[in-house]
Amino acid sequence: MSKTLRWTRLIHLVFGESIGRAGALGRIAAAHVRQLPLVAALGVATGLAEGIGIGALIPFFGLLAGDAARTGLPHPIAEIMTGLMRYPEQTRYFILGGVFLVIITGRSVLQTVNLRLIARLEVRIGHDIREAAATRLLSLDYPFFLSTGSPRLVHLMTFHAWSVEEVFRIGLTAIPSLIGLAIVGALMVLAEWRLAMLAAISFAVAALLLRTLHKVQEGLARSVMASGRDLSARMTAVVEGARVIRLYGQELAERERFSDVDGTYSALLAAARQVSAITWPAGGAILTLAFVAILFAIGALHIPVPVAIAFMVLLARTEPLASQLLTARSQMAAMTGTIEEVEWLLGQAAETKAPSGGEPVDTLDQPICFDDVRYDYPDGSPALLGADFALQPGVATALIGPSGAGKSTIVNLITRLVEPSGGVITLGGRPLDSFDPAALRARIALAGQDVAVVQGTVAENIAFGKPRASRAEIEQAAIAAGAAGFIAQMPKGYDSPLHFGGTGLSGGQRQRIGLARALIRHPDLLILDEATNAVDSVGEEEIVRLLAERRFFRTLLVISHRPSILAMCSTGIVIESGRVVEAGPIGGLTYFELMKGLRT
Ligand code: ADP
Repeated sequence: MSKTLRWTRLIHLVFGESIGRAGALGRIAAAHVRQLPLVAALGVATGLAEGIGIGALIPFFGLLAGDAARTGLPHPIAEIMTGLMRYPEQTRYFILGGVFLVIITGRSVLQTVNLRLIARLEVRIGHDIREAAATRLLSLDYPFFLSTGSPRLVHLMTFHAWSVEEVFRIGLTAIPSLIGLAIVGALMVLAEWRLAMLAAISFAVAALLLRTLHKVQEGLARSVMASGRDLSARMTAVVEGARVIRLYGQELAERERFSDVDGTYSALLAAARQVSAITWPAGGAILTLAFVAILFAIGALHIPVPVAIAFMVLLARTEPLASQLLTARSQMAAMTGTIEEVEWLLGQAAETKAPSGGEPVDTLDQPICFDDVRYDYPDGSPALLGADFALQPGVATALIGPSGAGKSTIVNLITRLVEPSGGVITLGGRPLDSFDPAALRARIALAGQDVAVVQGTVAENIAFGKPRASRAEIEQAAIAAGAAGFIAQMPKGYDSPLHFGGTGLSGGQRQRIGLARALIRHPDLLILDEATNAVDSVGEEEIVRLLAERRFFRTLLVISHRPSILAMCSTGIVIESGRVVEAGPIGGLTYFELMKGLRT
């Protein structure tokens, strides 16, 4: 067995399997390795002081029992007592009391310093974990989000990534108890090794029996975690769905759905807590049995009274230390779900990333061609079944078709948010995946139906499309998107604060901000994906008039069902059920004529 394997096995045994496998979290903690020895050393020193403090009780008892008590006591303790006997009786108690006081005060000081250090370290490690989780999320490809779904990720980021740091506090604060136990154990061996062996065997049996309980705890912790995810999704639904729930009178039904999910969660949590609650007394009961066994052994082995007293004092002191360790172990087990969730995210391999391609994109002044392009979503549902078409530079093209036909999928493919499952997309004859995706996206701007308004001012929201944009650029983009009018009427104009999600703005206003955000990039390719469907027809005509000037972009790809917007386009591609069914001048498309007919 290799050395690392042995270590892993040991960590599994002591802390449980989830900790043993917590490689990514371990690496984050390892970054603070310079402070770990100090924390560990303080833990050892605290444990030493604890152990020695307890050890000092033995000569104390010895003194009480008189000179005769030295017989049978372990050699070092007997030595100390012989030394003490040289002093008058009062002084002996004084010296021993003083030593005891110094050690115990020292232990408290060390413990305080250690706990402060641990708290600081825990906060730093927590910061690093959250940062690592956010960095990992930001570096993962879009398909990861498609296949994972937001409830799991939201719960992970808002709960597990915050609470997992506690594992380190539990682990680090357990060090003094562990060391204390080792020292008291050593003193027990010194006092009477046969009894010490018996105690060690009892501890081992207790630990082995409790392992079964810890396994149950770990299983329950995983179920609590999965159920917590459902509960978090329901909580989000209550907040995000505030409007639709009221409009459709779903308050009662939602409450029932909520209490169903919360009921399951609470039941699992109660079960988990009950198992945790059993762990401690179960440990205590086993140790009490050990106590009784040792009492019998004292009788059977004819152990001298002072040694027996010293041993029992030491044994009694092991109980709180062992309890602390058991509690720590049980807390670790209860965090299994949290540890595994964070590990899962941090372990999401970067190699699932699409081939990134490194060629720069100077301009999109060349045709983008789809050649028998197929795309299946990660869940296997096919979205494109073999699309063939070309987007010509400098041309306004309409992409039309019924919903679910695959239009947004095409946008995701052009922007390389997803990669084709089959076929090839080319730019100027070269595969699109040979180009740097960031450089490609820098040449494209997308204004969609749902505009992600971010926390910040109106100006910051527009400048999201071009960081470091000047105020003049922001204002020009707003004018071009037909947004300047309503912005001027806001209390602080461009400096008016907007909230995440854009509450306080109408759908049409949000879309105009989204359009300004796209235009400020001066993209080679502007994609409008139902970007004005919430804007009134007068406003839309103004936007069309402004866009028709084409001052902000070169090529236009429009997904819309509004004839006024489509009128800007000279060519059209009709897509139905994942296939291109018609392409050519927009006026000549049967689908376009049909649409116009339906509207008039
Ligand atoms: P459109 O934009 O034309 O309305 P989409 O490109 O959004 O259509 O969707 C094409 C097909 O892919 C639809 O059948 C849709 O159900 C499916 N689809 C879209 N998004 C996903 C997803 N995240 N996971 C699985 N299937 C999806």
